[in-house]
Parts: sequence; structure tokens; C-alpha cells
Amino acid sequence: MADVTPTPGIHHVTCVAGDPQRNMDFWAETLGLRLVKRSINQDDPSTYHFFFADAEGTPGTSMTFFPWEDLSAGKVGSGQVSRTAFRVPEGSLDYWEERFDERGVDYDERVERFGETVVPFRDPDGLPVELVEVPIPDDDPTVPWTEFVPAEHAIRGFHSVTLWLANPDATMDLLETMGLERVGTEESPGDTPGDQRTRFEAAGTVGRYVDVLPTVRAGRQGHGTVHHVAFQTPTDEDQSAMRSAVRGEGLNPTGQIDRHWFRSVYFREHNGVLFELATRGPGYDSDEPLADLGGRLVLPGEFEARREEIEAGLPDVTVPRAGAPEADD
Ligand code: ZN
Repeated sequence: MADVTPTPGIHHVTCVAGDPQRNMDFWAETLGLRLVKRSINQDDPSTYHFFFADAEGTPGTSMTFFPWEDLSAGKVGSGQVSRTAFRVPEGSLDYWEERFDERGVDYDERVERFGETVVPFRDPDGLPVELVEVPIPDDDPTVPWTEFVPAEHAIRGFHSVTLWLANPDATMDLLETMGLERVGTEESPGDTPGDQRTRFEAAGTVGRYVDVLPTVRAGRQGHGTVHHVAFQTPTDEDQSAMRSAVRGEGLNPTGQIDRHWFRSVYFREHNGVLFELATRGPGYDSDEPLADLGGRLVLPGEFEARREEIEAGLPDVTVPRAGAPEADD
């Protein structure tokens, strides 16, 4: 494994949502992330693909959604990312609980995990999300977006994902192959009593943890579930080496696919969770200026020629803007 560059951590997490406007309002306004890209599902251009991130779309900060209105509610279970956790600055959980109270967000009591304080909550589709208080270093790679939430409380990229797995052993070996280090196991408050949570730590600052919990609860893809988790492989060479290492674990990764803002390799790990390896670049500002990210529907590559047809097939969505008058319909 000497030639595999350890992954610095999570690159992005992609989820399935229902109503696109409700998804947009919650993630952009209630949680205050920046809409850094408004695009389409490149495998299904009749569906939006929304990317919410920090102010600069830094790798390790983007939560993305396919609002597939025709699907029904999903069920979180084995073979899925069961929880997606975000970093917030130390001392900001009071702010968030107050914001959740004001806006009727469904959240749970704080729990302690590995010495950190966590607030679990659900988005409007029932997607399980968490905020975790962490010290944010002065040289943190993330840049807070302050349109709706002040900088001192703003979400600063991913903390972790939690995998629910029927047979964790092979997946835990895979995480080590990808360069994460097993750092501990403890009981997991907030989950089924007695459940043991094993934590893996990556080399970077943002999105550096993957937690593994054994479960046999059956899951089903649909609204409020995670579609896949992408890990950073910064360069094409890193990605190619990681792809070979993954093949060496008996898995069957795709070839490299150009996703326009990054290049991707996909595979299902041993328990069925869809993993992606994503390069650092070209980045969300490669096709529109940083100041204008998310301002227009971006249609990558050959889709631009079909703009009229594609736009006609997409529902109207309004991006929330601070100070904008309330819509009257
Ligand atoms: Zn992806």
C-alpha cells in the first residue's frame, strides 16, 4: 500500500430529496450553506442537482441533493450512510438549538461521542443530520458563508459520516486501505442501546471521520437517505492508485467519469454503500466566477445545447436571498 496516498477525508455527500424548493430553503436558508452549483443530474437531466457548501466550495464541504419527487420516502438502514455530521465552531450549539426552535426543526437532545458534543436533527425529508462542536483553527481550509448565519456559528464542512453495516469487518479493512486509521470504539448514545461505534480518522482537517456501526436493519433508497459518499483523491494519480487498491480488496470500481467539477470513480463497498473517489479539481468555480456561484442553472458539456428542453422539464425554484421579500404565493 506504499503507493496509495491516504485520502484526506470526505469530498462530498449526495442525498435524495423530495420537493426541490423545500430542500433549497432548508439547506440554503435554515442551515445557511451556500448554493455553489445549481445543475442537473448528469445521468437524469430531468432532475436537479443542488450543491450546498462553504463560501468557496472547498472540498469536504459540499452536501448535494437529487430532488427526485417521484420517489417515495426512503428508510435508513444497513448498507447506507446513516448519518451525515457537520462541524460547527465550539460554543455555537446554543445558537443552533435556538434557530431550530424558531424554525420548527426536528432535533434531539445533545449526545457526547468521542469527547465531542453532537446535536442530531432531521431535514424536511427526514434525512438524519448532525452538528458537532469542534475547535476551528485559524488556518482552517473552510470559509464560512454568512448570508443567513453569522461566521462565528456557520457550518464549516463535514465532520463525519456514519456507516450502518451488516458485516463491518471487510469495510473496516477497506477504510484502512484507503488510508484511514482506526482510532477507537465506544458505546454510541442516541443509537440502539449497546451499539458499538468504531471511529476511523483520515489525514485531513475537514470530513476526516468515518464511523461504523453494525446493524441488520433493512434500508431502502428514497427521500431522506444518502445516495453516496465521495472521498477525496486529490489528483488523478492519487485516484488511479486508490482505484487499484480498491480492486485489490476484491471490489469493482468504474473507470474515471468526468463530473465536470471533479473527476470520479464509483464502487459499492462490501456492504453495499456506494463510495466515490473524487479529485480536488477543477472545482465549482471552473465554469462560473466565485462571486456568482449558484446564480444560474449550469448545464455541463453537451447538455448546454439542450438548455431549452431541459429547463422546460425542471420545476421552478427560487434561491433564498437575505433581505429578499417573502414570496406571496
Ligand atoms: Zn458524487
